Amino acid sequence: MTDFLNIVEPATGQHLWSGVISDVDSDVEIARQAWSEWASKPLTYRTEMMRRFANQVKAERDVLADLISRETGKPLWESRTEVEAVIERVEASIKSSGERTPNRRIEGALGLRQALRHKPHGTLAVISPYNMPALIPAGHIIPALIAGNSVVFKPSEMATAVGSKLTELFRAVGLPKSVLRLVVGGPEIGKKLAAHPMIDGLLFTGSARTGLALNIMYAANPGKILALEMGGNNPIVAWDTVDLRTAATLVVQSAFLSAGQRCSSARRLIVKSSMADALIDEVKILANRIIVDHPHADPAPYMGPVISNAAADELTGAFLDLMAKGGQVIRPMTRPDPDLPFLTPGIIDVTSVTDRSDTEYFGPLLQVSRADSFEDAMAQANDSRFGLSATLLGGSPSHYDQFWANIRAGVINWNRPTNDAAPTSPFGGLGLSGNHRPTSFYAADYCAYPVASAEIDTMRASIGIGLRADERDAPKLVLKGYF
Ligand code: NAD
Repeated sequence: MTDFLNIVEPATGQHLWSGVISDVDSDVEIARQAWSEWASKPLTYRTEMMRRFANQVKAERDVLADLISRETGKPLWESRTEVEAVIERVEASIKSSGERTPNRRIEGALGLRQALRHKPHGTLAVISPYNMPALIPAGHIIPALIAGNSVVFKPSEMATAVGSKLTELFRAVGLPKSVLRLVVGGPEIGKKLAAHPMIDGLLFTGSARTGLALNIMYAANPGKILALEMGGNNPIVAWDTVDLRTAATLVVQSAFLSAGQRCSSARRLIVKSSMADALIDEVKILANRIIVDHPHADPAPYMGPVISNAAADELTGAFLDLMAKGGQVIRPMTRPDPDLPFLTPGIIDVTSVTDRSDTEYFGPLLQVSRADSFEDAMAQANDSRFGLSATLLGGSPSHYDQFWANIRAGVINWNRPTNDAAPTSPFGGLGLSGNHRPTSFYAADYCAYPVASAEIDTMRASIGIGLRADERDAPKLVLKGYF
């Protein structure tokens, strides 16, 4: 019997897309057979293919943005920014490939060369989440293909229509079907792909729960590359600023962009006690103005729905749990339609909650706490097993120096949102946020491995120490004329 994956639009509950669940073995086999031919093409051939892909995305940018909005519920303006970021990712990846994985030759004496070159791993699996269904997989697939790998790509089971469209855009410019395989399915299919003996590595973006399971699975396979990009429980520390309106805007952008469904979204606002009430008022005023609506609505919303009713249930449950533990509601998280996953931004003061869980609430839920000293604020900010992004709002240059030196995170910003990350920078985190294989500009690093070679055209060798004399070199006594 054929099994199908069915996807509904979160904003309407209507059916959007169906696809047949894949046969992982067959897709891996096809990609495996294809990689060496792909790897043998000149680098310029592969980079030009990626440039053609960027042009194809440009030509179909509206279609892709519309699909992202339908499938994830993201406002259309925001989906458009995701599509533009996919296009930008191509040039950034080409630049990164040249800078991070270059070929170099150092010429030595007597024609000896020390060469550095990079080789692709072979066939890489890419497993991605739903929240940026085009940019995140593209951020792995483009550098993996540039490096000469073939790719087996499993999008999120909640964003496979976009995954399928992305695959189609690569193939539309002539990328062989065998070099990029689309695998349709949920966690079980993901598990099978990750564990497949014929893949040479896994590039994963998703939750810490899944990432940890994959880390355990790969512990017995140190020879396979594993890049983990996971979640965060990201803090903002707000200190000594009189510009409360701007600070509030940065808090709202950090916490509620994408309805809080970004790995780099701010989950915690830690604010100096003496300015807390004033800043909280500003944040509340702005959060009250946020339009939550259908992604295509006019006027445009700031937030669409979260991905599913199950996710909305979890988030409202988490908000109630924080209330039950003594949290003071600043702005309730409400669900205007119980049958659809639209949520209003929830803000809660958890200063007096003693048993706060270090959990990534992946949605529009901001926890606020107060701090009397900068050291206390720093300690609160670091009180997490995660370490993805962190922001200081306000403060002096020396506060920022202290913040930068002591905060544990892979993205540390000052007076910018927690989710501000440039494609020209690496992106990754510490602790439960990743395994020190940052993506974005450093993605090239995990798509190829370095090979060092000492080379010379003609063999030349001698051992000058520690050997007995070679009898063949002893002078021979030649007696002439006596016999
Ligand atoms: P998820 O972990 O539930 O799923 C991610 C992918 O893994 C999906 O394709 C899923 O089918 C697959 N999967 C699930 N269980 C698996 C298993 N046991 N073996 C193999 N594959 C499995 O994550 P999600 O809910 O789709 O995405 C949200 C999460 O992603 C958040 O935690 C967010 O912070 C994180 N994220 C991280 C980054 C980053 O760059 N660090 C970026 C975006 C999202």
